[in-house]
Amino acid sequence: MKEQLKRLRELQFIDIELDGFRKVKSEIVVRIEENKGFLSKLIVDLEKQKEEFEEIKSLHSSKTDDLAYIKEQHDKRQKRLHNVGSAKEFNAVEKEIEGLKRSITQTQEELQHMNEVIAATQEAITDKESKVVQLQDSIKAEEDASADQIKKADDDIERLNARETEARAEVSKRVLHRYDFIRNRREGLAVVPAKDGHCESCFMAVPAQEFILIQRGETLCMCPHCQCILYFWEEAIGEPGGPKAEVA
Ligand SMILES: [Zn+2]
Repeated sequence: MKEQLKRLRELQFIDIELDGFRKVKSEIVVRIEENKGFLSKLIVDLEKQKEEFEEIKSLHSSKTDDLAYIKEQHDKRQKRLHNVGSAKEFNAVEKEIEGLKRSITQTQEELQHMNEVIAATQEAITDKESKVVQLQDSIKAEEDASADQIKKADDDIERLNARETEARAEVSKRVLHRYDFIRNRREGLAVVPAKDGHCESCFMAVPAQEFILIQRGETLCMCPHCQCILYFWEEAIGEPGGPKAEVA
């Protein structure tokens, strides 16, 4: 069992390294995906604003036609004023002219307001367009910059995957099953040292009888508290990631 535990520690060392490289890669990918998400949202907003811009421009154009029509009516009434036959008719036409004048003022005010909205919308569109370009550039730059990092992480993952397969081949199925079960559940260490009568993962005391078995290293021992596979700490001195010898 001592040899099995040694192999298991090697396997765990490789798996932890693998986790690290996978994390590096996934963080890069997630960051780029996030920025791509912002970009799509920005593009949707921009398209919506462009539609609003077209709508208000079309409203403005029809309002301009209205104004021309009202002015035409106004001018016609003005001319008629010179040719009216009676005071009663004069008053009626003059009243119409007053009404049309109010209409002209009101329509001109509405057009003025629309002009302001058009200018503001145009500004917002220009602003968004430049943000879209900036974000596209920064995503492209980030993709280019991280291509090497991703390639390196992929290479490391591939290299470690091969070592992982080798290491797994040297551990019995029963022990592997236990190891995988704990590791999947805890996303961390599955094989931990037992030292001075306690488990180095949960720091709870291991029963004395169990600790003797761990020291002997003849059977597969688990921490009764956190279920980690335990080995006697001195066995791993000098191994990669293993404990250091204590100076007496
Ligand atoms: Zn424990």
